[in-house]
Amino acid sequence: MSLIVQKYGGTSVGSIEKIEQVAEKLIAARKAGHSIVVVVSAMSGETNRLIEMASRISDRPEPREYDVLVSTGEQVTIALLSMALNKRGYAARSYTGSQVHILTDSAHTKARILDIDESRMRADLEQGCIVVVAGFQGRDEHGNITTLGRGGSDTTAVALAAALKADECQIYTDVDGVYTTDPRVVPHARRLDCITFEEMLEMASLGSKVLQIRAVEFAGKYNVNLRVLSSFEEGPGTLITFEDESMERPVISGIAFNRDEAKLTILGVPDQPGVAYQILGPIGEANIEVDMIIQNVGDDGTTDFTFTVNRSDYEKAMSVLQNTAKTLGAREVTGDNAIVKISLVGVGMRSHAGIASTMFKALAKEGINIRMISTSEIKISVVVDEKYLELGVRTLHDAFNLDQASAA
Ligand code: ADP
Ligand code: ASP
Ligand code: MG
Repeated sequence: MSLIVQKYGGTSVGSIEKIEQVAEKLIAARKAGHSIVVVVSAMSGETNRLIEMASRISDRPEPREYDVLVSTGEQVTIALLSMALNKRGYAARSYTGSQVHILTDSAHTKARILDIDESRMRADLEQGCIVVVAGFQGRDEHGNITTLGRGGSDTTAVALAAALKADECQIYTDVDGVYTTDPRVVPHARRLDCITFEEMLEMASLGSKVLQIRAVEFAGKYNVNLRVLSSFEEGPGTLITFEDESMERPVISGIAFNRDEAKLTILGVPDQPGVAYQILGPIGEANIEVDMIIQNVGDDGTTDFTFTVNRSDYEKAMSVLQNTAKTLGAREVTGDNAIVKISLVGVGMRSHAGIASTMFKALAKEGINIRMISTSEIKISVVVDEKYLELGVRTLHDAFNLDQASAA
């Protein structure tokens, strides 16, 4: 008998009717002869509602208490789903992350899974029981409840699949697979039959929220067969694969974007060793993650330095940078939190020249000004004004003919 781990996201369990539909799908899989472990998210909107309540009490709630609060959404759905299965005559047992020993580090709100003791789940599976596990949560070595970061139920599912050596991990969501870009922005985006781990990792880290980045990392590391499918319609979905040398790969597989960006610039700093460290050191100490960094060519012994951070860290980064500016005697500090990042991703870029120029030409034709550029082996990212996000993504999707299967 094969073992499958399935995960249903917030929209897929967003109402009692939908939870009953998930129960029917699980029963169909059971009848097809599979053993099933199912991971569920909180009902759609519930995690946001919990976070909003916390923010009404404090702008900075204790991370430990925040995790106790936001992990509750998933406890509701595991119980409801188990009840729906029981009502239909199927044995099912629900477990919180802690109850199935999902051990994490103590980094509250973004904890990493360290270990899973799968014995309790195995015992249930051997008795023909459907095991229902709460996504997004675990506990640390001191027994504190932890959560895995937004979208973390994907990671729970993949980690369980790895621990149980499942035959496949199926992520059921509100789209029928991974697309060339977010179909909400480009309605004629194309579903991909497969995408490599490497590309999926880039897409996830550059803002495609269809899979949490850690889920993709985990799947790559532990060789988990990972597939993204629709909860609402039949179909093959998208398989995340290891790169196959013989596979004919398109140059560009997809376009990712991130709306949560902000940039800061410090102008007229001394052009001398140690300055980059003096600027970014305090930013790191304030626990702010820096993404892109650009330093201009020095002029008159001074230079300008620009970097991007997550938009939620913008005010904090600005106040840190203003202090640094005083220490360094910089001319000015400026910033912009209405920017976005658009990225082209594709392993085929390694062997093709001219991608960047096609990209820049297409954006120029629409009058979209590029504020920052960064490249790596399999991606090119540009920062543009927020108002150009949709236009920019659609323009690039067309420029690279991504709606066609044989895209350049
Ligand atoms: P769930 O609640 O099931 O975890 P998410 O909202 O986290 O669902 O992820 C699914 C959403 O991801 C889709 O509705 C879609 O808008 C978005 N998305 C972003 N980029 C892509 C992409 N390249 N392919 C498919 N979906 C994408
Ligand atoms: N409920 C959590 C969230 O909204 C985890 C998840 O859905 O994956 O981020
Ligand atoms: Mg998600």
